[in-house]
This record gives sequence, C-alpha cells and structure tokens, in this order.
Amino acid sequence: MLDLTTTIARDLIRFDTSNFGEGRSHGETEAAEYLAAHLERLGLTVQSFDAAPRRTSIVTRVEGRDRSKPALVVHGHTDVVPAIAADWSVDPFGGVVKDGMLWGRGAVDMKNMDAMIVTALDRILGSGRQPERDLVVAFFADEEAGGVLGSGYLVREHPELFAGATEAISEVGGYSIDLDGKRAYLVQTGEKALIWMTLVARGTAGHGSQVNGENAVTRLARAVAAIGGREWPLHLTATTRQLLDRVAELLGSRAQNLSPDEIAIATGTASRFISATLRTTANPTGLTAGYKHNVIPDRAEAMIDVRVLPGEEDAVLAEIQELVGPDIEILISHRDIGLETSFDGELVDAMVGSLQRHDPGAEVLPYLLSGGTDNKALSLLGIRGFGFAPLQLPASLDFPAMFHGVDERVPLDALGFGADVLTDLLLRY
Ligand SMILES: [Zn+2]
Repeated sequence: MLDLTTTIARDLIRFDTSNFGEGRSHGETEAAEYLAAHLERLGLTVQSFDAAPRRTSIVTRVEGRDRSKPALVVHGHTDVVPAIAADWSVDPFGGVVKDGMLWGRGAVDMKNMDAMIVTALDRILGSGRQPERDLVVAFFADEEAGGVLGSGYLVREHPELFAGATEAISEVGGYSIDLDGKRAYLVQTGEKALIWMTLVARGTAGHGSQVNGENAVTRLARAVAAIGGREWPLHLTATTRQLLDRVAELLGSRAQNLSPDEIAIATGTASRFISATLRTTANPTGLTAGYKHNVIPDRAEAMIDVRVLPGEEDAVLAEIQELVGPDIEILISHRDIGLETSFDGELVDAMVGSLQRHDPGAEVLPYLLSGGTDNKALSLLGIRGFGFAPLQLPASLDFPAMFHGVDERVPLDALGFGADVLTDLLLRY
C-alpha cells in the first residue's frame, strides 16, 4: 500500500508531460487537471490558465490562520524533460516502484515535490487545520523551456494571483548530501543567470574542391573552440563563500589548504551542483551547417549554453563577443536573470527548524543553483525565492545525477520525510 505522496508522484509520472522546448510539448493539461481535482477535494478553488493549447498551469489560494502575514508561494512545475526509453532500465513513464524507490521521469524533477505539496495540504486541510499564513499554491507548465508558457506567462498576464506574496519555495534545494558521514541539507538561495545564444558565421558559398578563404564552417569552428576552451575565472559570491567555508569546517583537517574547486570536489556527488556555481560556464551544445559533402555553405550556426553568476551578464556577453571576433554574429534566443538572496530571515529560520525537528543536529547550508527555476519569473514581482523540496537521502545515491538523468528515481522514505518537513513548515511559518 503506497502512501499518498508516492501515489500522487507515481500518477503524475504516468502523465507523459515531456517538454521538448521551442514550444513543442506533450502538454501538461492532464497532470494539471489531476492536481486540480485533488485540491478541489480539499475545498479549494482552483484557477486554470492555458498560455497555449494544452499548456495548462493551475493556481489556488489557501487561507492562513494569520492573514496579516504576507503570503508564501509554494510552487512546482508539471512538465519534464524528455526521456529516451531505450536508455532506461524501467519505463520512464511507468511510475514503477521497486527497491524502495519510485522510478520515472520527474521522480526528482519535480513531480516528487508536486506530490509533497498536495500531501502537506491534504494533511493540514483534511484535519480541519490551516497553514499559518496564506499560501499561493501554483503548478506551472513549461518550466523546462524557461517558463515562457507557465510562470512567465502568469507573472506577466495575471500578477494579481500573487498579490500579497513576498516569498516562495520550490525545487532543487532542501535535499541532503553526505560530508564525511555528516548529513547536510542544501537550501537553494540563488540561481545563475542563463543566456542561450546562437553563433552565426557567414562566408562565401562555393564548390568543395576550390580554394575558399571565407569558409563559414571554418569561421564557426574557430569561434566554438574559443568559447569551449575558455577557462572562466573563479568568482565566489556571498552564497558560495558561506557554503565552502562551512563545508571546509565540516571536513576538518582534510580540507585544509584546499582551493575552492577542491573543496567542491570533496563534497562528493554534490560537486556536480556546486562546482558549476564557482564561475561562469559556456558550453557549445549544438552545430548546424552544410548539406552536401562537396558544397561549402555560406552560413554555419552553433548553439551555446551560457550560465553566468548574478550581475555578470553584460561583462560575460562582451567577453564572448571578443572571443569570437567581429565576424561572428551572436543571436540571443533566450535570456533570464540571475538571483541571489541572503541565507537569513524568518523563512530561513523556519526551514532550518523544520528540517532539524525531523533530522536533529543536521547541518543546513545555502547554495547557488547553476540552473534556473520558476523563482526567476516570480522575482519580477519582488518575490524572494528559495529551493526547498526537502529530501533525506542515502549517502550512496548520486542525487544530482538524477536531474534530467537516466533511471531518475527517489527513495520512498525520502518522499515521506519531505512531506513531513513541508507539512511542519506550512503549519508553523
Ligand atoms: Zn525542475
């Protein structure tokens, strides 16, 4: 008999909400309707919004005990990145439960948290109680393509939904990592900015057998190599400094005289998340040019995924233009802001308190996310966002590898822990 959190997460995984980007998607409507039905059973009024056909987001407001307090946004996204079934050991959309874990696309990103949110509300409202403050509960479409048809749309077209809200909690934070046998939870307090750019090289088309000093492919290759080979300088923000200092303390003598990069690596599997937050990254991710072996094309394009520390966007853009030279045109196809907030205040105290009530003595640390979440869109309304989807994880699980990874899975125990901690937080804060 599965508990409510596992059941909801499993059911959500079985809706294939794959988001392929650039507006192509299987759609989130069935998943949104499923969640709306749960919320309506709890007596909540759910509003539904389709920014495009089948791209459904839903929002509901839960009345708190103390309505004088600003509202808290509790949000999740219902879309997932695609999965290639042949690479998996289980059906990625089967919602398989085995070996004490729930397997499937979205098991950690982020149908797990969607289910924990509903479970927490079910426990609170179902037992005749109320959360401490008003909650704006939102399940967004399209997060995996930058939230254009989800959080971005709602923030732009329906800001009234978030009226009175000052803070938000959502994904990619609150999970535990193992530091030499000590358990520490990472709460996400910021996100790198993202710039998706296309490099366009132009040249003169011609026969592949002739001398051609204006070959677009050669020009593009030079630019791609310059960006891909660039070693970006270390830059510690307030968040990463605080994190690395405390991690070094926890690691003790082992961390003495280690560089920031080495301390990040010493966190084990968590380094997959942390290392990328110590500097800008710029990765070439795609190439398009040519159509026949003996024809030189007049145009060649490359996709570059640039992740920049908050506040450095313009400087990095200028540097990239310099790296590729004046002949390469840079087209920005998607750009989103970086965020960073301090690890303090009442909500931070409450998140730490809820974690420590369920895992006494646990360390709780801030970290910066190398990716992005719907908190970026909400920040445009002045809402301060955190990543807090609490999970107590076994040290042996390479959790960061689960995000968008093959055989994405989450321990059932971790889901139970998360629902308990989230319920505690919403009742108290
Ligand atoms: Zn996500």
